[in-house]
Amino acid sequence: MPYGLGIAKGMMVTLRNLVRKPVTVQYPEQRVAQHHRFRGEDFVWYEERCTGCASCAKYCPQGIIKIVTAPSGEMTQEGEKYKLEVFDIEIARCMFCGLCVEACPYDALHMGSGFERARPRQSDLVISVDELKASAKKPSTWFRPQLQDRGYDPFQPGDDVSWQDAGREKSVAPTYEEMLQRWVQGR
Ligand code: SF4
Ligand code: SF4
Repeated sequence: MPYGLGIAKGMMVTLRNLVRKPVTVQYPEQRVAQHHRFRGEDFVWYEERCTGCASCAKYCPQGIIKIVTAPSGEMTQEGEKYKLEVFDIEIARCMFCGLCVEACPYDALHMGSGFERARPRQSDLVISVDELKASAKKPSTWFRPQLQDRGYDPFQPGDDVSWQDAGREKSVAPTYEEMLQRWVQGR
């Protein structure tokens, strides 16, 4: 290599990066656009869809979902829906694999889109059932890309997804007439 060529090449790289538009932004004032299928650190849970089967807890490879149920007396004709007394997700140990979401037979659990849940103490990084009940219903479209086909955008304010629209089926809860037909008149 001729003498000085290496220095010239190095200077070219330096000059190119001096005039290049930065790829970083001034967070939190500025934010980069997130993909709709981003798997965030929050979870979206639909109580109306959840039967308390605990499949999500059984499939979690980290064992960080704790579920305690009690009889509810609801939907007894369908085998009874359980009332969730405890539904804790210890997200400090979550690896956002999404297996809990894939395991849910009723489309009751979805990944969220948030990423700003940092806390000083690990013990504060537990999502409780009350938090799940109160959280915004803005699921990531990672496991439900059909939501995008319906024009849903998890980052638009007020664009919540109802429990009826959150699953592959329109609804998991049969009407009284449907149950009557299935269990009484149909026999
Ligand atoms: S995303 Fe993975 S690690 Fe996190 S709670 Fe669900 S199954 Fe467990
Ligand atoms: S979220 Fe789904 S898998 Fe978990 S307990 Fe409820 S219905 Fe079962």
